[in-house]
Amino acid sequence: MRALFFGPPGSGKGTQAARLSARRTLPHVSSGDLLRAAARSGSAIGLRAKGFMDRGELVPDALVLELLFDRLAAADCGAGFLLDGFPRTEAQAGALEGRLGRGERAALDRALRFLLADEAVLERMSGRRSCKGCGTPFHVSFRPPKVEGRCDRCGGELLRRPDDAPEVVRERLAVHRRDEAGLVEFYRRRSVLREVEASGSVEEVAGRVELLLEGA
Ligand code: AMP
Repeated sequence: MRALFFGPPGSGKGTQAARLSARRTLPHVSSGDLLRAAARSGSAIGLRAKGFMDRGELVPDALVLELLFDRLAAADCGAGFLLDGFPRTEAQAGALEGRLGRGERAALDRALRFLLADEAVLERMSGRRSCKGCGTPFHVSFRPPKVEGRCDRCGGELLRRPDDAPEVVRERLAVHRRDEAGLVEFYRRRSVLREVEASGSVEEVAGRVELLLEGA
């Protein structure tokens, strides 16, 4: 299955993609994670990307596409993948389609749009934390770690991402609302668009996601 998840920040795309990736043994490819790893590594791409990320702006396509296409070229993506946070614009969607080709099979099986109101996004984001070491996401109310401030997976320290600060979240949300219509149209035209109500518990949303991906 080749699927992608898009929607506002904090709508649970990453959490659902990670869960599904484990259940279906499909690689979870998150452009945000790739960019953060590049920034941590101190690579030229990572350092250039960091300023944009810290301000909540989109990283220029040249940088994102290079990282992402490198990742999609890895052997484990040959049988499918779950994209999370990419594409974010119609131009990126076009670039992805160009990369995947439009051969016998559709370039993508599903583009799943997560629906969540702005107020809910802001509420969720205020409690979001992630592991400094491995990036696993947590939430102080909705997905607390077993030991406060520590990652369940690797024991790393849990921090608020700099771009989860309220003023940056507002900018990220504005960027998302600006660009989402182009993506919706792009994937609607290719008949792969599905929409999932993203409010409710992780398990509730996971059930809806599974139904919408059935047959993909
Ligand atoms: P995310 O983890 O998906 O919320 O992404 C965090 C930040 O990484 C975004 O606010 C952007 O600065 C950058 N980013 C992630 N994915 C993309 C993308 N597809 N295009 C441009 N910038 C991106």
